[in-house]
Amino acid sequence: MKKRIMNKVLSTLNRKAIRRHVFLPSKREIWTVIGEEGDNLICENPIFCSCKDFYFSLLKKNKKSCYHLKVFLIAKKQKIHSTFYYKDEEFESFMNLLFKDLK
Ligand SMILES: [Zn+2]
Repeated sequence: MKKRIMNKVLSTLNRKAIRRHVFLPSKREIWTVIGEEGDNLICENPIFCSCKDFYFSLLKKNKKSCYHLKVFLIAKKQKIHSTFYYKDEEFESFMNLLFKDLK
């Protein structure tokens, strides 16, 4: 990992900016990483991030990645994320709010 990216990853981890959102009773999970440029939506399977870097990595046929995904994988493994619980009925309004914030 490049040093500049490594620093970004570490500072994001330090800010505890990784959130797991669980919808009940379906247990549907959504992850967000609050990056320097706003919230980003992360999906694990298939692997996805809503940021521009990830989008361009797809176009370039590089390994699909961005620093949010690196942050996400470390945070999940070390359990340094915060978890929020919602009702399934709230899923739609949650997604609407999230996509309003995405740039
Ligand atoms: Zn990203």
